[in-house]
Amino acid sequence: MLIAIDGPAASGKSTIAREVAKKLNYKFISTGAMYRAITYRVLKDKIDAYNEEAPAKIAKKYGVSFQKTKDHPEEERVFIDNEDVTEYLFTPEVDSAVSLVARNPQVRKELVRQQRRISSQGNMVMEGRDIGTVVLPEADFKIYLTATAKERALRRKKDLEKKGYYLDEERLKREIVYRDKIDSTREHSPLVKAGGALLINTTNKTIEQVIDMVMDIVKNRE
Ligand code: C5P
Repeated sequence: MLIAIDGPAASGKSTIAREVAKKLNYKFISTGAMYRAITYRVLKDKIDAYNEEAPAKIAKKYGVSFQKTKDHPEEERVFIDNEDVTEYLFTPEVDSAVSLVARNPQVRKELVRQQRRISSQGNMVMEGRDIGTVVLPEADFKIYLTATAKERALRRKKDLEKKGYYLDEERLKREIVYRDKIDSTREHSPLVKAGGALLINTTNKTIEQVIDMVMDIVKNRE
């Protein structure tokens, strides 16, 4: 069984998808982490994020993988070119460049190929922007999460504080709105609610409430 969760930046997709996967004993895949890993490497190699060819070469040369490690037996870490980049995925630098890298059609083509290969393992909750529309149009369940930009900025602020980054809420809101704009207006696989996806506005809901809603949907249809 495949569950696709899409939605704009910081709408709670990863948190919800991870918890639902845990409850169902399914694998959880954040496709945003894959675009972020490529972006991290693009920045590390001092490649221009606006360039067409070079970021695509990075995506083709280095697969992105999810693996548990000895030091982190509980959670899957994100690797690119044998480097554990999990700690670097949410830096302000990656945040600013990731949507530019992700609108590159050649980068997308390669990552969608890798995402479909991962999904062939089955029983998975995969989250991103184009999972219900492009990556897994045949998914058994499609969910689209939204929340106001203000609420999402506040959530991202709290998340980042846990990681040791202290950023201004207004700045985060601007960055989220900027990323949503690029993601939803790009030519290839823009962010859009998939036909048949269930829309959940999470603005005034707790994480637990949203998890329960998703679990109800899955259980009721089983
Ligand atoms: O979900 P997250 O905020 O980590 O995603 C980071 C960025 O990766 C998004 O803003 C978007 O540009 C890109 N992305 C995408 N398609 C996906 C997942 C993420 O374009 N399926």
